[in-house]
Amino acid sequence: MLFGRGKKNPIKLVDKHVVDWKYATCGYCSTGCAIEVGVDADGKPVTSRGVADADVNRGKLCLKGIFEHELFDSAGRGLKPKMRAHWHEPWQDAGWDAALDKLHDEIRRVQAKYGPDSVAIISTGQMLTEEFYTLGKLTRGLIGSNNYDGNTTLCMSSAVSGYKRSFGSDGPPGCYEDFEHTDCLIAWGSNLPEQHPIIYWRMKEAQEKRGFPLIVVDPRVTMLAQNANLHLPITPGTDVVLMNAMMHVIFKENLHDPRYIEANTNGIEALAASVEKYDPVTASKICGIDEDTIRVVARTFAKAGAAMQIWTMGINQSTHGSDGVVGINNLALITGNIGKPGGTSLSITGQCNAMGTREWSSCSGLPNYRALEVPEHREEIARFWNVDPEFFPKKRGMFQTDIYQAMEAGQIKGLWLIATNPLSSLPNTARIRRAMEQLEFCCVQDCYEDTESAQYAHVYLPAGTWAEKDGVMTNTERRINRVKPVTAPPGEAKPDLWIFNRVAERFNREGKVSFPETAGEVFLEMRELSRGRLSDISGMDHALLERNRGVQWPYTAEQHARGEAPPAGGKRLYTEDGKFSYADGRAKLIPLPFIDNNEVPDEKFPVWLNTGRLIEHWHGRTKTGKIANNNKFSPIPFIEINPALAEELGVRRGDYVRLVSRRGDAVAMAQPTQRVPKNMVFLPFHFHDCANRLTLGLLDPHSRQPAFKQSAVRIERLADQPAAAKLSMEMRKF
Ligand code: SF4
Repeated sequence: MLFGRGKKNPIKLVDKHVVDWKYATCGYCSTGCAIEVGVDADGKPVTSRGVADADVNRGKLCLKGIFEHELFDSAGRGLKPKMRAHWHEPWQDAGWDAALDKLHDEIRRVQAKYGPDSVAIISTGQMLTEEFYTLGKLTRGLIGSNNYDGNTTLCMSSAVSGYKRSFGSDGPPGCYEDFEHTDCLIAWGSNLPEQHPIIYWRMKEAQEKRGFPLIVVDPRVTMLAQNANLHLPITPGTDVVLMNAMMHVIFKENLHDPRYIEANTNGIEALAASVEKYDPVTASKICGIDEDTIRVVARTFAKAGAAMQIWTMGINQSTHGSDGVVGINNLALITGNIGKPGGTSLSITGQCNAMGTREWSSCSGLPNYRALEVPEHREEIARFWNVDPEFFPKKRGMFQTDIYQAMEAGQIKGLWLIATNPLSSLPNTARIRRAMEQLEFCCVQDCYEDTESAQYAHVYLPAGTWAEKDGVMTNTERRINRVKPVTAPPGEAKPDLWIFNRVAERFNREGKVSFPETAGEVFLEMRELSRGRLSDISGMDHALLERNRGVQWPYTAEQHARGEAPPAGGKRLYTEDGKFSYADGRAKLIPLPFIDNNEVPDEKFPVWLNTGRLIEHWHGRTKTGKIANNNKFSPIPFIEINPALAEELGVRRGDYVRLVSRRGDAVAMAQPTQRVPKNMVFLPFHFHDCANRLTLGLLDPHSRQPAFKQSAVRIERLADQPAAAKLSMEMRKF
């Protein structure tokens, strides 16, 4: 077919011979775009398109979603289970029974020798919710290790912790539709156009219609900052100071909402007293934003009819990540901006199903936001699963980031890694490598057999990925949507749910605990457990979810019985008159003293290292690095460097430089740009053996999330390196 206007360069759309379109939800970011994958007459996935009547993306997809069908037969997919006696030996193909028996026997051997918690289980935000729930039941109900967490600690745990501290429970209060009602938007450390392109499009369309001011707080001139009415290039790690100063102005100028505060919150006196000393003049010296701008932003936010705040990793990945989230919630609460259209604090989540793991994985507690610390919750779940309540720990175990330190110290001797790759994703790679080397047993379950972490495994289990499986995912705005199998996993690879059920059989010889075989049955079990909870999904089933292109929780059986169409009640989590999850129904206003505990540039390491994502890649590039149409835009590591700093160092565009931190070094290509100030470089974290060789990753005290974005480095010209070092670095590039 010819669509070009002239004769010279006609645009041809290739006919992919699609005979059927299969429904799924995108498996990359948390936006939750509904996708249809086109398959040809042989059942081969050949193309993808956005679903036009899905409210989230309204027919659109970003660069990652458009090529997602190319994942299925990408290089490195695991086709057979494998085993070996030592991690430095070659792999031997194995049958499923032998590999699963080995996993069971080794977990029990290590637990018998060193205690139940000496085995750690770490999963992901990439699996389907029914899989998370089943793994949680297996781990909490049968295996019995308390050192069980997800890689979501690296991206969302500060948001979880901040929501819990402010509102008494996790759960984002707002939704994308809030962009269409807001009168002011502050984006804290969030670069929507690159990280969540379809949410950006929703925001931009609303902004063009309504003309609300967009205020971006980010040390770097991101794409979102380029489109902002006001950009605040804050000093890294000082967001809490700016938030306190804004509250100072709001209280001083009587711009707060006393009626809302009185009716719905506790702690106003302590908060008001604590921000007293953060006057804009003092604060400006710490956070780098001038006093007048602080006042303007505070007034603009507080005077808006409805004001919204969003944030991503710029807040979460900090030693003050949890405090930053509480600060955002404080600002929303003192101005009455929770629960009303356009007035909300909405964390923009990272991975496609980070929300699903928060709700159902039991990583930090028990299903559907139940806590190990609450005896009634332990009793309720033990009864439902038919296990002894005394088998459950009385409080949560280690976070993922603490588990590696415990491995390094020899406390943890066995590890089951599921769809996560710590050698790429954790800060300070050298330390993670040392930790992995201490293990007596490691099992890697992943759709790729060539992940960096698999080199330390004794057992490899080949898993299905994304739409090779059946289930649901929850997006940033609490919308649960369907993923249906487009194709079968390759070779002998199996869906994660199948793998967990087979592992469960081995820990459940007497059949005391039931493990439903299909995702539909698992969902019905979860539905029962959700009745009356914050995340009530009792009115949903798989068919309803697909028909509605996703439904936001809560959606109750009663609403369904009354014939109320989704998303009745589920758009916003809290109503305008509060009713938060604390026992008295009130939210907490929490003072946030600022403690300057980050690594900061000094004489030896004089440049801030800021890390982040690119639009074409996903996390460690395990997937997008193998998809030509994604990888070609950014095939190698690079840094953004200010032209003035580049000139001072004698570095030209395209030169390779050596970045050196206290932890290690890395090589990247220099791209001079005004996007970063002279004392900062930006390095995308996607490339293996690069950014995380440098990062320190100090941990937030509440969420245990690492401060990936605040480290100090020096930059050396590659041309100045001694010959041997230069050779080794040149070799590392390839
Ligand atoms: Fe997928 Fe996110 Fe892109 Fe949507 S915006 S297509 S969910 S990667």
